[in-house]
Amino acid sequence: MAARTGAEYIKGLQSQECEVWLRGERVKDVTTHPGLANGVRAIASLYDLQHELPDEMTYVSPTSGERLGLSFIIPRTREELARRGAMMLRWARTTCGMMGRSPDFMNVTFAAWAAAASYFARGRPEFGDNIRRYYEYISERDLTLTHSLINLQRSRTASGVFNLEEGTALQVVRETDAGIVVRGARILATLGPLSDEIAVYSPRVARHTETHSPFALNFAIPCATPGLKFLCRESFDLGRSHFEHPLGSRFEEMDCVVFFNDVLVPWERVFLLGDVDLLNATATSTHSMTHTAHQGAAKNLAKCEFVLGLALLMTKTLGNAHLPHSEERLAELMLYTELTRACMRASEADAKLDEWGVMCPAELPAESTRNLFMTAYPRIVEILQLLGSSSFMITPTEADFSGPLAPQIEQYLATDTASARDRVKLFRLAWDVAGSAFGSRQVLYERFFASDPLTRARALNAIYPKDALMDRVRELLDDE
Ligand SMILES: Cc1cc2nc3c(=O)[nH]c(=O)nc-3n(C[C@H](O)[C@H](O)[C@H](O)COP(=O)(O)OP(=O)(O)OC[C@H]3O[C@@H](n4cnc5c(N)ncnc54)[C@H](O)[C@@H]3O)c2cc1C
Repeated sequence: MAARTGAEYIKGLQSQECEVWLRGERVKDVTTHPGLANGVRAIASLYDLQHELPDEMTYVSPTSGERLGLSFIIPRTREELARRGAMMLRWARTTCGMMGRSPDFMNVTFAAWAAAASYFARGRPEFGDNIRRYYEYISERDLTLTHSLINLQRSRTASGVFNLEEGTALQVVRETDAGIVVRGARILATLGPLSDEIAVYSPRVARHTETHSPFALNFAIPCATPGLKFLCRESFDLGRSHFEHPLGSRFEEMDCVVFFNDVLVPWERVFLLGDVDLLNATATSTHSMTHTAHQGAAKNLAKCEFVLGLALLMTKTLGNAHLPHSEERLAELMLYTELTRACMRASEADAKLDEWGVMCPAELPAESTRNLFMTAYPRIVEILQLLGSSSFMITPTEADFSGPLAPQIEQYLATDTASARDRVKLFRLAWDVAGSAFGSRQVLYERFFASDPLTRARALNAIYPKDALMDRVRELLDDE
């Protein structure tokens, strides 16, 4: 089947020569690098699931007849949309919701764009063909994509309009017979070193001011394209065991700045060029915004469920689950979990066929969970901290359990319901959610991955049906 196995994914990464830099050194092989290899393994396990559960995780392509990863489906019915949602939830649960940029994020984006290919054809007829062919290319090869939407800025305007500066922001520097040549820097390619291809487009609510702009771009190229350089932050996989660093040792998805040093983008990989209005309306007109929110809802739900399960185990271990303040905090976690589940379900139940013939999730519930999580997740982590208190610090390493203090550790750290080892193991996991570099990055991710909170608030304002609500208030005012 066309859907890849984990081994095929790893082989794909090994066969391309990407320029990835980490701690001042060029990474020779991302699949064996100590800071990246476990993240590669986690993505590989997602691909393996497609072969373990083909009925749940794949679908038969209506064009090629091959079995493809289900997140590539262009859903035409509510059933297909719900199947895609269940598949994405399965992937998200596999990573405890800690790999927000799993491949389904970009797969649903390109599925929406391919269905709306005539939107891209409005720029130039060939761009419509390009997007359709590219979707077929990535779905049939089951490729992994990273993406980079934001330009680095040297200074900020008070209006919030992007400061697109010559020499920093990514722009077209020339056009050739072969394609466009682009130069500049972009952030923040999560999953960059773990990907086959990079998609470059603009934020959902892009704020370019000119009508034609060398900064208005939408294209995708292999990560190994000459001139493309990925600069990693330091890895939060510290090389420790699963006992000591349960999440960081599994789910490091890495974030990168991307430098484009006069990178040639072949014409067949260009989907939009120069047209500011078309660029700005892409996410809303093609509804890719709502499809990515659907993927985000699955991730949010998996994350809420995981943290709630963790909190329940923490309070059980400490013997304080029945205390009123614990119950209040647990109930708040339950609320976030069930609200997220309801949003995801409503987005599927109230889905409608859009003008492209795609079954599009209902946008309000999908967008609501995306907005909610920007403030809910930091609060969720705060609740864990309040529940765990000093137990986060009563976390000796694995070595201590075989060191001279082992008898005291076993005696004094045990609780009524847990051995010392189980207690420490649990709270090392809790620390990886609520305190470690890995956990702190998760909080930052949830605050900002979907662009800054103001942008998301504006997006919600733009789609919210306001008139009916104001009319109801007016009716009361007018009722003498
Ligand atoms: C962990 C992580 C992963 C990410 N992954 C990806 C990814 O995979 N792909 C991708 O494309 N992007 C990704 N992003 C980037 C994300 O899209 C941006 O972080 C987000 O759009 C905010 O932009 P910025 O970081 O440049 O913030 P800034 O623009 O630097 O803003 C910083 C703060 O200042 C405020 N601010 C900014 N400008 C103004 C102004 N003019 N007036 C008043 N306040 C202002 C903002 O609201 C924010 O609170 C990721 C971000 C994080 C943190």
